[in-house]
Amino acid sequence: MEDCLFCRIAAGQIRVERLAETDELFSFPDIQPMAPVHALVIPKKHIVSLAELGDDGWPLVGRMHRLAVEVARKKGIGESGYRTLINTGPDGVQTVFHLHLHLLGGRPMRWPPG
Ligand code: 5GP
Ligand code: ZN
Repeated sequence: MEDCLFCRIAAGQIRVERLAETDELFSFPDIQPMAPVHALVIPKKHIVSLAELGDDGWPLVGRMHRLAVEVARKKGIGESGYRTLINTGPDGVQTVFHLHLHLLGGRPMRWPPG
């Protein structure tokens, strides 16, 4: 998946700040932050979206959340709270087609979302 932006980030071909990493996951700041803390957690392996995860992929999504919670604590928002979300498909306004979990915090989130 040479033409996939997040595959290139995961492979170290595009330099980003490393917030957290495991064998299978990588976390880095969003380039266009929507909150004081806005990080992304991605699998290093190319997966298009939640809709294309496959039956054996669900534990990976759990581990993505676990890493997001670790990043939240590292960034000092573990107690103040945060939002984790995954955009899927056109109505979810997914713009990068490599699965990613958003971590947003550092200010009160609004509800309902837009
Ligand atoms: P989506 O709308 O697909 O859920 O979110 C994609 C996210 O990736 C957006 O929040 C966008 O700002 C972020 N993004 C797009 N290109 C880059 C990039 O080159 N580097 C980083 N760090 N984030 C990016
Ligand atoms: Zn990819």
